[in-house]
Amino acid sequence: MNLGFDFYRLNDRLTEAQRDLRQQIRHFVEQIVWPHINPYWERAEFPREIVMQLGTLPIPIMGGMLHGYGCAGLDALSAGLVRYELARGDGSIGTFYGVHSGLAMGTIGLLGSEEQKARWLPAMARLEMIGAFGLTEPLRGSDAGHVLTTARREGDVYVLNGVKRWIGNAAIADLLIIWARDENGRFGGFIIEHPQQTPGLTIHNITGKIAKRAVLNAEITLENVPVPAANRLTNCHSFRDVTRVLTFTRYSVAWEAAGLAAACLELALDYARNREQFGQPIASFQLIQQKLVEMAAAVTEMQCLCFRLAELMENNQMDESMVALAKYTNARKARQVAGLAREILGGNGILIDNHIARHLTDAEAIYTYEGTNEINLLIVGRALTGIGAFV
Ligand SMILES: Cc1cc2nc3c(=O)[nH]c(=O)nc-3n(C[C@H](O)[C@H](O)[C@H](O)COP(=O)(O)OP(=O)(O)OC[C@H]3O[C@@H](n4cnc5c(N)ncnc54)[C@H](O)[C@@H]3O)c2cc1C
Repeated sequence: MNLGFDFYRLNDRLTEAQRDLRQQIRHFVEQIVWPHINPYWERAEFPREIVMQLGTLPIPIMGGMLHGYGCAGLDALSAGLVRYELARGDGSIGTFYGVHSGLAMGTIGLLGSEEQKARWLPAMARLEMIGAFGLTEPLRGSDAGHVLTTARREGDVYVLNGVKRWIGNAAIADLLIIWARDENGRFGGFIIEHPQQTPGLTIHNITGKIAKRAVLNAEITLENVPVPAANRLTNCHSFRDVTRVLTFTRYSVAWEAAGLAAACLELALDYARNREQFGQPIASFQLIQQKLVEMAAAVTEMQCLCFRLAELMENNQMDESMVALAKYTNARKARQVAGLAREILGGNGILIDNHIARHLTDAEAIYTYEGTNEINLLIVGRALTGIGAFV
C-alpha cells in the first residue's frame, strides 16, 4: 500500500482502521479527483458530481470528529488524515469539505442544542444538506469579533441585516450560518435554511479568484431577513464560542497545508527523476537535490507537528495557541514548498495539467483563511508573553 512521502515512518503509528481510511481517501483522490479536477479549476466551476461521492464512501467522513446524529465520529488522527489526503488531491474539494463538515457541522455540533443537532446534522452527514459558515464581512476580516451584521428580535423571529464576504459553499448551501450581534450586543449564530429562496437574502459568487477556483465563495447581502428564533444556536454566548469552533477547524487546516505540501514534493520528485537535461535526470543535479531536501525537511516537520497535535487533541490537551502555531507554521511552509516544486518543474510548473499550479495558488488561500498568518502568529505571541499585540 503506497501511503506517500513518509520519511520518518509515521505511518507505522497508524492503526489498521486509520490506514484503511487513509487508503480510501487516496483511492478517491487518485481515481476520481485527479483525472477530472483540472477542467473544473479552469472554468472556476464547482465539481458537484465529484464532491457528492464523498457522502457515499464506505468509511463515512462527514462531521469529522463529531459523534452521533449520523456523524463520522473519527478520532483526531483520522480526521487529520482525511484533510491531508483531500488536500493532496485538490484544495477546492478539501475546502468544500472543511466548510461543510468542519465549519458548518462543527458549529452545530459544538454550539447547537440537542434538538438543533438532531434537526440538521443527520441530513448534513448524508450530504443531503450542504452547509456554509458566514462570519467574515467586507469591513470585518481579521477583526471578525466585531461583526457589523445585526439581529433584531421581533416576536418569534430575528431580523438580520448586514453583508458577509468570502463565504464558501454559500451559492449551493441548504443551510447557512450567519454570525451577528443582537440588540443587546450579544454574539449569535443564526441558521438560515434554503438561503437561495429566502426573501431579502442575495448571494453573489466572487469571480476572478486565482486560488481555490473550484469552490464557490460568495458575498451575501441580508436585508431584513427573518430567521425563526428557534434557529439561533442555543449554546453560543459570545465570540469566544466561535473561536472554539475555529480551534477545531484550524487543526484540520494545519493538516491541509501538510497534505498540499506533500503532494507538491511527491510530484516534484517524480518529475525530477524523469526529466532529463544535459543528458541526465535533473534529479542528479546538486541544486535540484537541495530544493528536494529542503522540501522533504519541511514536509517531515509539518507531518511530525500534525501527528503530535493529533495526540494533544485526542487527549483534550490542545489549546488555541498550540493550534495557531501549527496553522502558522504549516501554512507558511506549504507556500514555500509549493514554490520550490514549481521551480523544479520549470515551465511545466505553470501548467495546470501538472497539478502544481493548483497547489501553488491554493497555498495562498490557506495562508490567509482560518486566521491569517499574522493573526495566528499574534495568538502564539500572546500565549508566550501574556501580552496581546493585536492592536
Ligand atoms: C478562499 C477563501 C475562503 C474563505 N472562506 C470563508 C468562509 O467560508 N467563511 C468566512 O466567514 N470567511 C471565509 N474566508 C475569509 C477569511 O477568513 C478572511 O479572508 C481572513 O480572516 C482575513 O480577512 P481579510 O481577508 O478581510 O483580511 P484583513 O483582515 O483585512 O487583513 C489584511 C492584512 O492585514 C493583516 N492584519 C489584520 N489585522 C492585523 C493585526 N491586528 N496585526 C497585524 N496584521 C494584521 C492580515 O494578517 C492581512 O495580512 C475565506 C477567505 C478566502 C480567501
